[in-house]
Amino acid sequence: MIYLDYSATTPVSYEVLDTVSKVSKEFVGNANSLHALGLKSANLLESATKQIADIFSINPNEIVYTSGATEANNMAIIGVAMANHRKGKHIIVSKLEHPSVYVICDYLKSIGFEISYVNNDENGLIDFDDLKNKIREDTILVSICMVNSEVGVRQPLKIIRQIIKKENIATIFHSDMTQAIGKVPVNFHDVDLASMSAHKIFGPKGIGFLYKSSMIKITPLIYGSGKSNELKPGTPPLPLIAALSKAIRLANNDLEKRERFVNLLNEKIVKFLEQYPNIKINKTKYSIPQILNISIMNIMPETFLHILDKYEIYVGTNTACSSGNISNSVMAIYNDSKRAKHTIRISLSYVTTTDEINKFLEVFKEEYEKISL
Ligand code: PMP
Repeated sequence: MIYLDYSATTPVSYEVLDTVSKVSKEFVGNANSLHALGLKSANLLESATKQIADIFSINPNEIVYTSGATEANNMAIIGVAMANHRKGKHIIVSKLEHPSVYVICDYLKSIGFEISYVNNDENGLIDFDDLKNKIREDTILVSICMVNSEVGVRQPLKIIRQIIKKENIATIFHSDMTQAIGKVPVNFHDVDLASMSAHKIFGPKGIGFLYKSSMIKITPLIYGSGKSNELKPGTPPLPLIAALSKAIRLANNDLEKRERFVNLLNEKIVKFLEQYPNIKINKTKYSIPQILNISIMNIMPETFLHILDKYEIYVGTNTACSSGNISNSVMAIYNDSKRAKHTIRISLSYVTTTDEINKFLEVFKEEYEKISL
């Protein structure tokens, strides 16, 4: 099998799986219980959380565990809206967000919030002047993803934060960092809130976290018992939390070296595909190398994806990461609906091998040239 859909999800690493299994067996107590077994679990919860906090230079109490990035995005965006609706009802998002952000915004719109969509340039970079002009006195939140999930455009969060806070110091800044963490260095101090998910970094599915700066308040969405976190009550899923902590530690090794290697693979694919006039490379100077989006203009993406399936080669279309059959991100950058309908996302990891890419290109050549004749 040649797996080239790492941005949709990653397989869980053996080391991380081992943590899930060990913690499930050895830490049976509820971390909220007062007895010795509960305490043992509470201690592990504390150390796993501290490890994550140390890696990102944040406080452990700024971490809210969630089931993944969708929940973290909900908690952040709706939580800010509920906490601040008396101050204002205006929210700004980019045109390059994950669909989960747009669905949340649609919900907030239906209950009276106003959503503005900030423009980007032809490289996918946020239009700073447009952002500045859109921020108002009643703007309670700006949400801009650090790395876009379809074209991989990376945004300069520090600059964006400066623009936001200069225009309105009270405006809260959230970033969906799901596609950034484990691929590129991140700095939580650039934002007030950030979302992530373990299954994008070789961790298990069903766990992630929301970073919430201790300087801001959001309204909880979930109510219940349990002392560990007021935004996420209930029994903490300790095996998953310990696994998340491990996955983060492993993901943050040699980030730059891994990125350089993936870049070589990316460039090899791009160079190969450039020979075909009907293939457009949806890559801008801000795209990270782990995400390579292309449009095959003379064939529907699902058809080609199923051809590759037969060889056990797995790439993505925009269905895993988009609400419809059109890539919002490709549309926002290239303003070409055919190009946006014909996208395939090849997502790479540092575990991808040169041999896998050679085989992929060989199959691609054979099958694509058959269709194009
Ligand atoms: N945000 C981004 C940028 C993503 O890529 C994804 C996963 N496709 C999500 C949010 C949703 O994450 P999860 O599957 O953990 O809910």
